[in-house]
Amino acid sequence: DESHWYETQPWGKRDQADFYNVSVSLTTNLTPEELLDELHTIEQAGHRQRLVHWGPRTIDLDIIFWGDRQINTATLTIPHAQAAKRNFVLLPTAEIAKTDVLVGPQVAQLIAANQDQSWIKKVRNVSELDD
Ligand code: AMP
Repeated sequence: DESHWYETQPWGKRDQADFYNVSVSLTTNLTPEELLDELHTIEQAGHRQRLVHWGPRTIDLDIIFWGDRQINTATLTIPHAQAAKRNFVLLPTAEIAKTDVLVGPQVAQLIAANQDQSWIKKVRNVSELDD
């Protein structure tokens, strides 16, 4: 599944362009570490392509939840510690996780406890993002 795209307030440093955030859910036979490797490959490809075609942009792919598992290794913390406190992660994720019995309750609990005041707004027409 894929959430709407959201335009979101830059976190921390305010004087920079707004961000776009989207949440996706997926089923995979990869291990968490293998999926992380894949995300890094996509991030590297994303950096290159955007530099050539549309000017400098960055892409950041994170694993937020892995069902109800908790994972703490040298390279992975799941649930994602920082992301789980931010509207731009929690609200798109809530959109797609409501009916997920493993992830839905975790997102609901984090939203209830969340103090983040930053704005996020749904992008109505995703094709506008190519401008
Ligand atoms: P950053 O580029 O600041 O998002 O940091 C990326 C690094 O964070 C990765 O190389 C991972 O080793 C580490 N990391 C820890 N937990 C996670 C997670 N849940 N999802 C993605 N990266 C993670």
